[in-house]
Amino acid sequence: MVDLHRIYIPYVKKVMNEREFFKFTEKRFFQTVRQFSMIKAKEKIAVGLSGGKDSSVLLYLLKKLQKKMPIKLHAIIVDEGIKGYRDKSIKNAIKLAEKLEVDYTLKSFYDIYKKTIDDIAEEKMRTCTYCGVMRRTLLNKIAREINANKLAIGHNLDDLAQTVLMNIMRNEPLRLARIISPIVESKLFIPRIKPLIRIPEREIAAYAVMKNLPVDLEPCPYTQNAFRNIIKHKLNEIEEQYPGTKFKIFNSFLFLEKLIRKENKNKKINYCKICGEPSSEEICMKCKLLGDF
Ligand code: SF4
Ligand code: ZN
Repeated sequence: MVDLHRIYIPYVKKVMNEREFFKFTEKRFFQTVRQFSMIKAKEKIAVGLSGGKDSSVLLYLLKKLQKKMPIKLHAIIVDEGIKGYRDKSIKNAIKLAEKLEVDYTLKSFYDIYKKTIDDIAEEKMRTCTYCGVMRRTLLNKIAREINANKLAIGHNLDDLAQTVLMNIMRNEPLRLARIISPIVESKLFIPRIKPLIRIPEREIAAYAVMKNLPVDLEPCPYTQNAFRNIIKHKLNEIEEQYPGTKFKIFNSFLFLEKLIRKENKNKKINYCKICGEPSSEEICMKCKLLGDF
């Protein structure tokens, strides 16, 4: 239940006014940054900014953090080439970066890969898999080029809970160790941080609306990753019946992550034989996916 000035938070059984809700949200953001030592003073933080609610709220909150801590911010805006959707959200992203006085770099998939996601959607089935891998590679490359110490990504609690369940259901538990930070360090790999992982998606949307941020709440037309969508809907149903379930998954994940990290302690990083980017295998996922064009 979201109106413009009040919101009901089921897992604490409380209706909050704007001021209480802002404080509640910002507190969790600052706590997460502190608890996982995500950001240190004087670091340069690259922020993946799409113009959607998550990354826009992330940039807005990092700007708040900048008032408490001397850090540099630089937004990276990636144009995947999705007609009628990304063109709108890119305008929002630029508007927000300019409003917050944050420098930004804009790069398109076409510039780098000579393909847009619209082209890939015509040829391939797993559009989101291609898009995710290509975006990850590009964000890391740009973050490295601008000498960023960290790359901040707007993943929220719902994304985390869905990813944890998907990895367990696919019997890929080792992937859980990569959710918050990389398993192995590499100079070529800019550590990714996710300061919103304790904030549910619904609250991020409410925060963006209440703060009047220029965001597009429309979903991407290719959002049809069937498995993730099924998990998302089921999880939302369970959360409605048992408020706080997503937080419980988060806490279980923290416990499992420690165990898995121990398991991976001696793992070494490889570098892709084709493009030289860090990879857990001989050929990185991006080259495997794009190699058959
Ligand atoms: Fe890319 Fe899929 Fe996200 Fe659309 S929904 S932006 S295609 S990953
Ligand atoms: Zn490669």
